[in-house]
Amino acid sequence: MLIDGHGRKVNYLRISLTERCNFRCQYCMPEKPFSWVPKENLLSFEDLFKFVRAAIDMGIEKIRLTGGEPTLRADLDKFIKMIYDYKPDIDLAMTTNGYLLADIAEDLKKAGLKRINISLDSLRADRARIIAGRDVLDRVLAGIEAAQRAGLKVKINMVPLKGLNEDEIVDILDFGKERGMQVRFIEYMENVHAHSDLKGMHGKEILEKIKEKYEIEKIGRQGSSPAFLYRLKGEEYTFGLIDPHKHDFCESCNRIRLTAEGYLIPCLYFDEAMSIKDAVQAGDIDKAVEILKTVLANKPKENRWSEETNEASSRAFYETGG
Ligand code: SAM
Ligand code: SF4
Repeated sequence: MLIDGHGRKVNYLRISLTERCNFRCQYCMPEKPFSWVPKENLLSFEDLFKFVRAAIDMGIEKIRLTGGEPTLRADLDKFIKMIYDYKPDIDLAMTTNGYLLADIAEDLKKAGLKRINISLDSLRADRARIIAGRDVLDRVLAGIEAAQRAGLKVKINMVPLKGLNEDEIVDILDFGKERGMQVRFIEYMENVHAHSDLKGMHGKEILEKIKEKYEIEKIGRQGSSPAFLYRLKGEEYTFGLIDPHKHDFCESCNRIRLTAEGYLIPCLYFDEAMSIKDAVQAGDIDKAVEILKTVLANKPKENRWSEETNEASSRAFYETGG
């Protein structure tokens, strides 16, 4: 079992498969980064798998593939199958912008992917274009449909932004509700890479918008999930609110992050990281495990963002995975 320096059980590994992306979301990567990590610096799926296997042996029970845009990696289905074949009962999920999904959803499901979170910030083509910097809506909607058709369990992620899509919070909730997909509203997290004049919405403001149409009741956090769940009163349907500006989910944080270049990152807003790349490339898995244990021992008690200082993180979401 993996235990961090604060006694928390860590059983969830998030892997960013690439920092590259085919979108330029205003809140994440509005411009092309100063320079991309050269492709040869990325860990190959074979090397990644060596680490994943060791991490599973040590107690990782849940893996999420993210990025950047994970569907940009060729042979993604083969990597998923490697993990699935090693541990078929692993909770294997992915977060994607959905743009390339329509053509591959079925292959990913067959390979062993179980769940998928798809980002959807607007149902209006012009706005989706403004937010993502590309004309994306039709393909994202086709991706969502294909994922559901393939039998993947789909959730929708929306980042509400003032003056951009705040009036679509209920529309997106209804879109999810009609299709049996849980919507998770994510508070915008300030970071130095984002478009500088963006204004996010506080969790309370998001709930106020929903209350204009629905009565809602609190359910709570489930396990170590960062999402606080709510139910529409008198209905089965639940939605989630992810409010990282509160620190109350840090207490039960069970996750560790691995970047495409092989850096293990202990926390969302924590810049310290250690690389396992040399170790896995040399086939020295004991060394990689030692590094994993050191990073876990140094995992901070809570994330660094403070509502008082309003400090914007230097963390790039596209690099460390959202
Ligand atoms: N490209 C994929 C996508 O967009 O779903 C996966 C990576 S993305 C970094 C993962 C999640 O992080 C997305 O749901 C995205 O909306 C969210 N995200 C990115 N930047 C964010 C920010 N500044 N604040 C809050 N959420 C953010
Ligand atoms: Fe790409 Fe996802 Fe970041 Fe948007 S949020 S730029 S889709 S990595």
